[in-house]
Amino acid sequence: MPISDSELINAWTQVLTLSQLKKGDNVTVLTSANTHPQTLSTAITAASLMGATVNRLDLLPVNGEKSLSRDSLAYLGTTPLTGNRSAIAALKESDLVLDLMTLLFSAEQHEVLKAGTKILLAVEPPEVLVRMVPTAQDKARVARAARKLEDAREMHITSAAGTDLRCPLGEYPAIQEYGFVDEPGKWDHWPSGFILTWPNEGKANGRIVIDQGDILLPQKSYASSAIELTVEAGFVTRIEGGLDAELLRDYMNSFDDPEAYAISHIGWGLQPRARWSTLSLYDREQTIGMDARAYEGNFLFSLGPNNEAGGSRTTACHIDIPLRGCTVRLDGEAVVKNGKVLDKEMA
Ligand code: FE
Repeated sequence: MPISDSELINAWTQVLTLSQLKKGDNVTVLTSANTHPQTLSTAITAASLMGATVNRLDLLPVNGEKSLSRDSLAYLGTTPLTGNRSAIAALKESDLVLDLMTLLFSAEQHEVLKAGTKILLAVEPPEVLVRMVPTAQDKARVARAARKLEDAREMHITSAAGTDLRCPLGEYPAIQEYGFVDEPGKWDHWPSGFILTWPNEGKANGRIVIDQGDILLPQKSYASSAIELTVEAGFVTRIEGGLDAELLRDYMNSFDDPEAYAISHIGWGLQPRARWSTLSLYDREQTIGMDARAYEGNFLFSLGPNNEAGGSRTTACHIDIPLRGCTVRLDGEAVVKNGKVLDKEMA
């Protein structure tokens, strides 16, 4: 349903306040062919009313001819910043970048963040942004989960459907996504609300069963029957099952890149205002599936790159798969049990 401008301006004001935007800060709003006009106009209004100096930088889309999907998260590779010295300079000089186009991870984005610029991605439709406008409580919950994850040396994931995956930890940091950017050099995504890390290089082993009803992204579909992934030394070595497995195999094969099969980020959802069922109500063109990535109690794993965490794997293929009903243990202690987050005792 539509959202009024004033509601979206209020939501932006909350996000920008949580992001500690100050009078006189320089804000660059990044746009491209797919930027939502109301999200853009309300972002500019809210930041201007708070006294920021606001510029808009429109970048040309890339990779459209290479990607098999229209989803903006489906194909990584080069970005509109690749070789774009003047745009990089503008972003490095900004205090805050509002990414309304999906810039995605790249060496250039790391360079911008290293300069102290904060980047906030916001591309879901206005009503999704307003429903999941972040709060300080969202951050507190994600931060508590991060403290647990930072101390852990192994994540063990099991489910009644047959998942049994062991991921040694410690090589990569725990990354918090809570929907606003309150530290210099921080990247975040509105809406979100989850915690993630990467398994130690080449060390994840076991099997993952994507059960009927679990969501595949960027396919933006619910699996109609189980898909079984065999994981050996950090890579998926077999994808077995019915039609959904065949579709996944064919899509991943199209990248012709063995790195696509690496286990990428692993973590769990902590956002109570995100719902597993939302994807069934939306056209695929209308959403990138953040409800699916963030809903409370999912185990979200992915296949593909690790450059977001400082690794060297930059494959263009990136699949996110949130599973329901999993138990996630850190060094033997359950933090999610059968799809329920066990963090009340830490509140
Ligand atoms: Fe991902």
